[in-house]
Amino acid sequence: MAVSIKSAREIELMRDAGKILAEVHEELAKAIVPGMTTKDIDMIGEQLIRKRGCIPSFLNYNGFPASICVSVNDEVVHGIPNKKRIVREGDIISLDAGVIYKGYHSDAARTVAVGEISKEAQKLMDVTKQSFFEGIKMAKAGNHLHDISNAIDAYVSSFGYGIVRELVGHGIGSNLHEDPQIPNFAQKRRGILLQPGMTLAIEPMINEGRADVVWLDDDWTVVTEDGSLSAHYENTILITDGEPEILSILK
Ligand code: MG
Repeated sequence: MAVSIKSAREIELMRDAGKILAEVHEELAKAIVPGMTTKDIDMIGEQLIRKRGCIPSFLNYNGFPASICVSVNDEVVHGIPNKKRIVREGDIISLDAGVIYKGYHSDAARTVAVGEISKEAQKLMDVTKQSFFEGIKMAKAGNHLHDISNAIDAYVSSFGYGIVRELVGHGIGSNLHEDPQIPNFAQKRRGILLQPGMTLAIEPMINEGRADVVWLDDDWTVVTEDGSLSAHYENTILITDGEPEILSILK
């Protein structure tokens, strides 16, 4: 499938979707306290999405049974909210959320701390977030897609962390997942030429230890094989004539 170039109208809708999602993430992060369950987090997130007139992108997507992916500590992504899973002081929680606004998706993830966390956990979160910003320095018309991948890899690898390879970023628009796939690790080929009007979800998933991941028997939850912590940071961005525009962040 060719990578779609969004029209001015589509870009406007994706800006609106992104702004709403940024607000949802900001409010959801503030709501998290020790003692709540991952299901509580999902219910709050779903309410925040619906009260803004949006539909959760993830609910029932390929059968996913919730609105927010809530992944705790060694869970990398796609954690299924559970009313028995309690979050505790010192945990790090990766929250992945998507909204559909007037037919257009926005997708973003944040990893948040529950109360006081270890210095090591904070560093992993900081490096993961910064790796997104290192990657999008290359997200300019005229560059190639894998310039983004290579920049993320170079930054993350300098800290000795493991970069998840089985899951990657993606194009986004009227579908949650569109072409192209966007790896977070170095590539030998350049990838497609970036053009204004492309909308991409860039989402490094970084492990404190080795890169290897395994799927739990629920067929969704991805965890680090070595049990080390993992963090995730994602935004939906727009390629422009100049600097990329981050759609899912509050300006
Ligand atoms: Mg995504």
